This record gives sequence, structure tokens and C-alpha cells, in this order.
Amino acid sequence: MSSTLNTWVEIPKQTDFTIYNLPFGIFSATDKSKRIGVAIGDQILDLVEASSLGIFDGLGISTSTLENDYLNDFIALGKKTTSAAREKIQSHLCDENSPLKSASGIFIKQEEAQMHLPVKVGDYTDFYSSIEHATNVGKMFRDPENALLPNWKHLPVGYHGRASSIIVSGEDIHRPKGQTKPDDGPPVFGPCKLMDFELEMAFIVGKETELGDSVSTDKAEDHIFGMVLFNDWSARDIQKWEYVPLGPFLGKSFASSISPWVVTMEALDPFRVTGPEQEPEVLPYLQYQGSRNYDIDLEVLIQPESHDEPSSITKSNFKYMYWNMAQQLAHHTVNGCNVKVGDMMASGTISGKDEQSFGSMLELSWAGSNTVPLKNGEVRKFLQDGDTVIMRGHAEKNGIRIGFGEVRSKLLPAK
Ligand code: CA
Repeated sequence: MSSTLNTWVEIPKQTDFTIYNLPFGIFSATDKSKRIGVAIGDQILDLVEASSLGIFDGLGISTSTLENDYLNDFIALGKKTTSAAREKIQSHLCDENSPLKSASGIFIKQEEAQMHLPVKVGDYTDFYSSIEHATNVGKMFRDPENALLPNWKHLPVGYHGRASSIIVSGEDIHRPKGQTKPDDGPPVFGPCKLMDFELEMAFIVGKETELGDSVSTDKAEDHIFGMVLFNDWSARDIQKWEYVPLGPFLGKSFASSISPWVVTMEALDPFRVTGPEQEPEVLPYLQYQGSRNYDIDLEVLIQPESHDEPSSITKSNFKYMYWNMAQQLAHHTVNGCNVKVGDMMASGTISGKDEQSFGSMLELSWAGSNTVPLKNGEVRKFLQDGDTVIMRGHAEKNGIRIGFGEVRSKLLPAK
């Protein structure tokens, strides 16, 4: 953090959306069609209106890029442009003489806006990069002595997920139905009985590659625009019956929820930390220089239908990831697979070492053998109909805070 910034915008004390953050999203409101906005405090700066005052002059950003259903066209302008645009916004919001300060209609209260899916997601990949999570799942479902498969420490395991069912915070989902197998009988069809969330973060690809090309760990960050919170909803009983020995399918594909504001890598830069030591040494194409993990506090809360107040059930941190994003992207492209602007790559469930930091009900209840208490006296092993799952994330250092706001979705009964 180079210097202290002072904005003339009135900002609530504990906001995630400080002058140091300035995340991008897509919003609409009465009299405002879908467009790009930037969150500041409890308000949104309308970039279409801000641009009409000339603040982006010379950057080559057209109105149609800003008045848009998605961020993809803006992101595709490249980091040089998007980063310059963010710096312009930052300096104008700190400049008492900025035309933004006297203009009307360029700020809107977040509570009066409708947030939309920020990017059109072409492809979605889910990694499995938390060693604590992979170890927990391996202990429960495979071998407690050899929880990790032999490949796990040699490559960031992942699978291709379903992009069409990625939804934005505030959209509710129905409990999925499917085929499951009771221990003592033949397969049956019906609503999932073991409904779960997965606490994850996802990065959004900001620069495409050509088919056949690979991205090195050195260059990976040029290809990452920003990050969101990611709830990878999981139907554990459907997953358990369908997945052996293939990758996840219907147990995962029915929905994943993301937070609406995309926090840029520029905003996250001050929160870099070194990652865990990787032993055994990884192959050269996965080796990297510098601090590539990020210190981001994460929390999951459940708000039952019968109770207004949400209960915090786990606290984890993105810094625990064994494999970092640069390694994930290098591995993803090492076979020549191309990536496109708007592709979303999720981290995999982010669990910490102790059981108060596990990132799924599967781990928190240890496959249903423990209960997780809520404030209203109820307990959970897995999610119940009417439960709202809320995920929050923020980073704080030297008194400076940035954050993601939240992703929340309610689980409705099966259709
Ligand atoms: Ca997942």
C-alpha cells in the first residue's frame, strides 16, 4: 500500500467497499438498464454516467462496453485499460474538484439496485486445491491412512464443471432430485437428502489464449482479471453414487452461486502471502516465484427460515490453498487447452486445519456423525429446506480493508 487515500464519498466504517477496493459488477435500477458499476461504501458508481463526464477520455472505452449485460467486453480491453480505468475512478473519488462530486444521478444506493451475474461464463473449472479438504474427504471416503491419491501433490487436480447453472447472489435454488443408493437396497429416485455447500473462491480469466498455447506460472497473473466468492452447491448422496470412478456430474451441476462484485487482482495485491511449502518438489512447469497466495478471511453462515439471525458455522482463509492460482492456470493450459475471457476457475473447497475451519457440511459434520449447532437451538448435519447459506470474505492489513461483500442463496424445497 503506497499511501493513504482519502475519498470525499461517505463510507460506512466497516465496509468491504473502501477506496482501496473498487470492484466491478453489473447492476440495473429504475431508469437504468444493465450496466457496469463500481461499489464504493454502500453505493454504486454508475460508469456509464461517469464516462459521460469524460473521466475515461483517452482510454478507448466505448459507452456500449459500459452499458452492457456483462463485464466480458470491458475485461477484454486488457489489464492496461481496466487498471487505468480503476485508477482514474480512484483518483476522481479522492479529488474534491472532480466533476463526479457535483454531478447528479451517478451514484445509486446498493439497496436500490439489482445485481446481475457479472460475467458471461464460457467454461467453468473446479479445482480441488486445499490439502486439508482433500485429506478430510479422502479419510472419509477412501483410506484414512492414505487419504490423498498419489497424484495429489504432483498436480492441481480439477474437473470441468457446468457454466450454465452459475447464478448470482440473491437467486434461490431448489433442492435437486436424483438417483441415490441406500446402503441396504437398490438405487432410488427422489430429492437429495445430503445437501451441502462448498466454501470456495473463483478467479475470472481476463486474457484469452490460443488453442495449443500454454501459460507459464510467471505469466499467469496477466490472464487473471479478478475474483469472486463461490458456493459450489453439492448433493452428497447423488455425488457418492454417481462419481466412482468418474468426475462429478449431477451431484454438482445443478447450481453454483457467486458474489456479484469482482474484486480485481490490483486490489488484492497488498494481501499476498507465501503459500505452504510444496513437498515433494513439483515439476518445473508448476514451479513459481514470489508470494502467490492471498490472505483472505472467509466465513460461512446459515440463516434458518425460522430465525432472523444467521449463525456463523465456519471460518477459513484462502491463504491455506496448497496450489495457487498461477499453478492452476499453468496446469490447465499445459496440454494446449485454450482459455477465454470470462472463464471461471474455482479453487475447490477451502478448509483450514482445525474443525472450526472446514469448508463444507460434509467435513463439519464428518459425514453426518456430528451435529453443527445454530444460534436458535437447532442443529444441522446437512442443509434443510429454508436454510439460507451466506458466505463472506475480506482482507485486512495495516488498517486497510477490502472485501467481497457476500454471496447468499436460499435452499427451497425440491420442485
Ligand atoms: Ca467444488
